[in-house]
Amino acid sequence: MAKEKEKEKEKEKEKRGINLLALTGGAALVAVAVNLAISAINAKKSKNHKKKDLPGSSVRIKLSASEIHKLTDHIIAKSKEIYDLVASVPIEKATYLNVIAPLVELEAYQFPLVQSCLYPKMVSTCDDVRKASAYAEKELDSHFLACRKREDVYRVIKAFVERGEKSDLESKHFVRCLVKDFERNGANLTLSKKEELERLTSQIDELTFQYINNLNGDNSFLLFHESELDGMPREFIKSLEDIEGRKLKIALKSYNVSAVLEHCKIGATRKLVATSYGKRRGKENLDILEKLVQLRHKVARLLGYPNYADFALESRMARTSAKVFEFLEDISDNLTDLATRELNILKDLKRKEEGDSQFGMEDIAYYMRRAEEQQFDLDLGEVKQYFPFDLVLTGIFRILQDLFGLRFEETKDVEAWHESVRLFSVRDISSSELLGYFYLDLFSREGKYTHTCVLALQNGCLSPNGTRQIPIALVISQCPKQIDGSPTLLRFTEVVTLLHEFTHVVHHICNRASFSRFSGLRLEADFCEIPGRLLENWCYESFSLKMMSGFHQDITKSIATELCRSLKRRRDMFSGIKLKQEVLLCLIDQIIHSSENVDIVELLKHLHPKIMLGIPFVRWNQPSLMLPSIRYWL
Ligand SMILES: [Zn+2]
Repeated sequence: MAKEKEKEKEKEKEKRGINLLALTGGAALVAVAVNLAISAINAKKSKNHKKKDLPGSSVRIKLSASEIHKLTDHIIAKSKEIYDLVASVPIEKATYLNVIAPLVELEAYQFPLVQSCLYPKMVSTCDDVRKASAYAEKELDSHFLACRKREDVYRVIKAFVERGEKSDLESKHFVRCLVKDFERNGANLTLSKKEELERLTSQIDELTFQYINNLNGDNSFLLFHESELDGMPREFIKSLEDIEGRKLKIALKSYNVSAVLEHCKIGATRKLVATSYGKRRGKENLDILEKLVQLRHKVARLLGYPNYADFALESRMARTSAKVFEFLEDISDNLTDLATRELNILKDLKRKEEGDSQFGMEDIAYYMRRAEEQQFDLDLGEVKQYFPFDLVLTGIFRILQDLFGLRFEETKDVEAWHESVRLFSVRDISSSELLGYFYLDLFSREGKYTHTCVLALQNGCLSPNGTRQIPIALVISQCPKQIDGSPTLLRFTEVVTLLHEFTHVVHHICNRASFSRFSGLRLEADFCEIPGRLLENWCYESFSLKMMSGFHQDITKSIATELCRSLKRRRDMFSGIKLKQEVLLCLIDQIIHSSENVDIVELLKHLHPKIMLGIPFVRWNQPSLMLPSIRYWL
């Protein structure tokens, strides 16, 4: 669902270890002058707005473009000051108090300020504020990266480690991560190797940019007669541009491709769409991808890792590529029998509808849907009638409050960046302790980020005086606002997504970490989604689904138990094939990043049929342009 551009950018940042959130350090002792500057900003704001400030929050709300620039400058100056301070500590005098503590406190202090500069890019109603925020992101990104390359600071931290001062487990883990951050950015390399690293990373940046630009600039499309689109829903046909009253234009974007692959009865159309989708800037981007893989490998070798996969995995739960291979191969083997039985069902269906022709990747989604139609009568349009937005939200709140012993209460009259934004406090139900806050910015509007996500605005952690800084989250979504007063109805997949996002909120708010660095959402990337995936199961149990639903014209009429069962069975159908496809993508990623030179096309030719039970890969498709994962358009 996420934009390819955003996704690729995030991936690249994460791989290079410059994830902005992961690097935002906070400041220990805040310079009085700077504090005054911030208070001045607030004082000025409070004259214009009578709404109350949020106790315990350092998040700045509704900053103007110039305030974002000022705050960015302050953050950079403050962190430079603390880094200089740490660097000035004589090696033989390095202690937790003069080396580690200032960096810990800097991180806690700085995080909500950094987020104050960054989140407006996604939600602000003013174009100049969004631009200022995007600019701030670039500035801060490169500043934090420069900080993590500082050899003078690294040397003092290492001196502290070598002294072996006693500390608790969480502090030890913090120091280990800190040292790793510096080393992964080359702080311990010789000057010539540092220069080489610089060269490689700037080439990686350049090529990544080109790759994304190529895709974003691609406007490939196909033209079809309506008869070639037999089976497509009316709604879809109506959304297509009609060229000279004769042909319908389908832009080769993933949402259109998914829809055609799932609904179109004409095998030749599905095949043409699938093949053309992978051809978009195919050769050009394939060359870039091969170069990128080689450069990443060189970076990893320079930093002392056997290959890029091991470098990327070091900071995740899996730790090594050997473990990942073992895990993927084990899953794949165990899925083979189930997936073969599922594939045979699909092949039989195709034979009945289209006669004897080779079964391809372009047939999977279509025949899965056909099989489901035959197995049970599930009308997703009807299901949608049971999910009015407000009711779903209240239901999700009830489920999460009951599960985790929490109380959500709306706080009115608090400043926000748009009138539709709501704020909730979260308390422990038994002690009434305030645990945190979350903002909801759920309705679509012009200029707003177009996907659903959760951002941490402030991290929960312990302050130097022992008090707890409370966590604050922001949920961004894209529900259409109904202007005629009728309720917004959610598709079932949107209900699942919304619950999933709220599990991130609860996770963020319930964390009890001492360090901002380990707070809430800042986990190993391969663990982060696990709580959400686990809790999504509540969307497939009839008693909890009934808590989130009600017929929109009479909300006392809850969704039928049989319908709930069908939704669950639908999720589980063809799970073998769906997982095999995921395994294939993961294996390709692992293999190409485990050695210096891999012929990607040859790899696909060999690996695709091996994992996908003999189904050949769609010609021209390359790893980043494989068919969209099997999911549902409706
Ligand atoms: Zn998630």
